[in-house]
Amino acid sequence: MVAQIIDGIKIAERIKTEVKDELLYIKNRFNLIPKVVSIIVGENPATEIYVNNQCKICNEIGINVEVVKINKNTTQQELENKIIQFNEDESINAIMLNLPLPPHLNQRKLQNMILPIKDIESVTAENLGKLFYAETPLVVAPCTALAVIECLKETKIELKGKHTVIVGHSEIVGKPILLMLLSSLLNSPTPTVCHIATKNLIEYTKLAEILIVAVGKPNLITEDMVKDNAVVIDVGINRIKLLDKNGREIIDEKTGKPKTKIVGDVDFENVSKKASYITPVPGGIGPITTCILAKNLLNLTKIQLNLPIEGYKIFS
Ligand code: NAD
Repeated sequence: MVAQIIDGIKIAERIKTEVKDELLYIKNRFNLIPKVVSIIVGENPATEIYVNNQCKICNEIGINVEVVKINKNTTQQELENKIIQFNEDESINAIMLNLPLPPHLNQRKLQNMILPIKDIESVTAENLGKLFYAETPLVVAPCTALAVIECLKETKIELKGKHTVIVGHSEIVGKPILLMLLSSLLNSPTPTVCHIATKNLIEYTKLAEILIVAVGKPNLITEDMVKDNAVVIDVGINRIKLLDKNGREIIDEKTGKPKTKIVGDVDFENVSKKASYITPVPGGIGPITTCILAKNLLNLTKIQLNLPIEGYKIFS
């Protein structure tokens, strides 16, 4: 069997178009272009690349992004004051606090200072609590977890009762996916969560009809670990060095640095021969995640404007 590729770029384009149309309506009716403040504390090249990419996509969709760079030596109090200022500023519709923060700052406290109605990444206890309670309509939720749900929907497979293994239990990916999958009383799949302390990972993954992997280790999931016809969703993003046939690094003549490429956590080439559906990396979860961020902003803006909102449906 050769797996069907779940095309993240196509799904992302669809979400982008939906969000763009609704933002255009808001612009015409309220003369408003929603604005998100993206806070970066200290210098972190990976964060800057991530934020630049977000700015590009948000601008394309019709969202203003203001990047606020704050010195790494800022105090907890100074940063709290900034968040209070952004909460009170009516021209700001959403606030994003980019991670990681310098270790002297209390991340959890700062995240929870963001007003839930401006919490674009769904990091506050209030918004995560709504996910826990499976409250509807679900206005915002963690973007990567929702991107995984979008991919599962794309396959049109029935989730009900399916043995689903999630590898990785982080707060931004594994745990919210679990809550989303359990949000139906009658139609949920049957999830198992594996993590760093799981003994003999293969025993679990081999039984998975749906396998979701969010770890950050290239080639963690090999063909022998996957059940025939499984649906495989790869959330991992890893940059690896390209090697020649003798196992030596290939050096880029222009930069003098080793050539690299992005891969997921799954051995795509071999697993795709066994799975029924699979997400590629790049081109899978990544592009969808950014568009969901824009959709979170749209939903928050609609609530702020007292417009009706449909919210996310995990089970249609
Ligand atoms: P994290 O480091 O917070 O969590 C990693 C998880 O993997 C933990 O639950 C840990 O217990 C588990 N783990 C580690 N080693 C393991 C092993 N050998 N076997 C089983 N479980 C193991 O990471 P994260 O923030 O959840 O991100 C995970 C991956 O997903 C990373 O590669 C990250 O870059 C990627 N990611 C992608 C997107 C996207 O939009 N595509 C968004 C967020 C994260």
